[in-house]
Amino acid sequence: MASPKLSVIIPVHNESANIAPLCERLLPVLDRITPAWEVVFVDDGSRDDTLDIIKGISRTEPRIGAISFSRNFGKEIAIAAGLDHVRGDGVVIMDADLQHPPEMIDAFVERWREGFLMVYGQRTDRTDETRVKRGFAQLFYKLFARFGEIPLPEGAGDFRLIDRKGVEVLRTLGEKARFSKGLYAWIGFKATGVPFVVEERRFGTTKWSFRKLFRFAFDGIAAFSTVPLRIWTYIGFLISFLAIATAVYFMIRTLLFGTDLPGFPSLIVSIMFFSGIQLMSLGIVGEYVGRIFAEVKRRPLYVVAERVGGAAEDASDLIPDTDRRRRA
Ligand code: UDP
Ligand code: MG
Repeated sequence: MASPKLSVIIPVHNESANIAPLCERLLPVLDRITPAWEVVFVDDGSRDDTLDIIKGISRTEPRIGAISFSRNFGKEIAIAAGLDHVRGDGVVIMDADLQHPPEMIDAFVERWREGFLMVYGQRTDRTDETRVKRGFAQLFYKLFARFGEIPLPEGAGDFRLIDRKGVEVLRTLGEKARFSKGLYAWIGFKATGVPFVVEERRFGTTKWSFRKLFRFAFDGIAAFSTVPLRIWTYIGFLISFLAIATAVYFMIRTLLFGTDLPGFPSLIVSIMFFSGIQLMSLGIVGEYVGRIFAEVKRRPLYVVAERVGGAAEDASDLIPDTDRRRRA
């Protein structure tokens, strides 16, 4: 590989204070690797002056550009939009808040040149997060490892370099409820991790509320596992078996000793128990049906309101992905 073109995708949502410090650290790293780089910010419906700041930088450095969504579509979709618009042979995805040290890109590129098509940053700790959040994250990854269809590499997030081959495959995955980490693993290819320490968020606060994270976790599990659907069959079996056993027990008891007490409390308890189970399983089915509904509506993943700089000439994002797939 002579001097392959390198693209960087940075999803941003209200990150105005971070843009300049990020560029200050990122650009020297990119310049060192190749002059043929581009940075594409994906402005995910920011309400502050994030986009204006990017515009300002883009005027002096045309290799920096942006696409701006018409509203907030979420980080996962911002990444998908970025993948649609970059033209590099290698594509780096990173956060804007400097939690992903730009200097790591050197190491990513090195491994990429060795022949790995996917190089991911592997966080060595989660000390930057609250204990509750960390606990839930651990629980999620345990569940995913147990029930998910594919193993996720430990500590791997969105910070990574993907070869053009992988990017093209990712672009064909048009699902709406996106769980990127699962998709990266799903496409396969020769992959390796590079450990790194997550730095403190530079400015602002995390853009992920607890509710958003929970939604995200459910998307992840539901996209890569049907266990939540199937588990009810087993539970149903077990409960039916218990019910038959109890019925037999009461029958024999009544035959031998006659009725002593009308079993009012046990009746209420069992009715409540079974209603609960039924509602819960119905809810799980609903979650999946909801996802099927979202997929069959075939809405485009995102809507671009504005483009900045040379990035994002491609208009494919305005075409629903049915057409995009047909063209591909
Ligand atoms: N982000 C985004 N859209 C959102 C939420 C976040 O584009 O709806 C971006 C955000 O600007 C940042 C990156 O995703 O560049 C990671 O977000 P954050 O740092 O808030 O997540 P955390 O590091 O707390 O997981
Ligand atoms: Mg962050």
